[in-house]
Amino acid sequence: MKKNFHKLTKLIRLSLDLKARKVIVTNVLPYNEEMKDEILYDLDDTLINHGKDTILVDLLAQMPYMKIRTDRQCKFVEDKAATITFRGEVAPCYALMHSYHCFIYGRKKEILPFYLGNVNESTLGDIWIDPAYVNFRNKLKEFRFPSCSDCKYLDGCSYTDTNESDCWGNNPSCAECLWSRSLSPVPKWSKIWQEFLINCRITIKSNFSQGSAGASIVH
Ligand code: SF4
Ligand code: SF4
Repeated sequence: MKKNFHKLTKLIRLSLDLKARKVIVTNVLPYNEEMKDEILYDLDDTLINHGKDTILVDLLAQMPYMKIRTDRQCKFVEDKAATITFRGEVAPCYALMHSYHCFIYGRKKEILPFYLGNVNESTLGDIWIDPAYVNFRNKLKEFRFPSCSDCKYLDGCSYTDTNESDCWGNNPSCAECLWSRSLSPVPKWSKIWQEFLINCRITIKSNFSQGSAGASIVH
């Protein structure tokens, strides 16, 4: 964000000092009025190697896009990842794990959670292959959602007040998701999962009743 963008080079240096293997840089998603002018995307990024993994010395830095691009992709679906709340509810991503307000290009938007099951009531495998979840993932693979952020009807459209629905009849709508635009990069879940298993050497059981908030799984 504007407030700390100038510290980015220091962050990379600090990460190297700490022997970190990876740094993920993300655009801020403002959650309150005071932060809404802190966004940096839509900068002229022609001189910045944003939007793809960048090797800085021997540190891998995962950088965000700084402008809206035409390609959209749900990284959670691509990585076969899901998120689980501390109550056991299964959401397709952490953006849809809970309810909150955020600001997209200065517009206030209400985000409603979207759950496809609860691991206290069904197994994760059954939830994963439930037709509702399969259909949702298929829709995301082709990204069958309109693009609100650059729509010419945006100013008079009330669909964008929430993620509840959109003009294509989706419910919920991923039409304004910043993660799908890589403005907010998503960690590579499959890689994290592999490292987690290697480091912990534990057996994962499908009993998440004592799970912590935001536990992530990969099938
Ligand atoms: S497109 Fe965005 S909001 Fe929709 S499931 Fe993927 S990460 Fe979540
Ligand atoms: S929901 Fe509204 S802003 Fe979004 S694409 Fe449709 S008409 Fe445009």
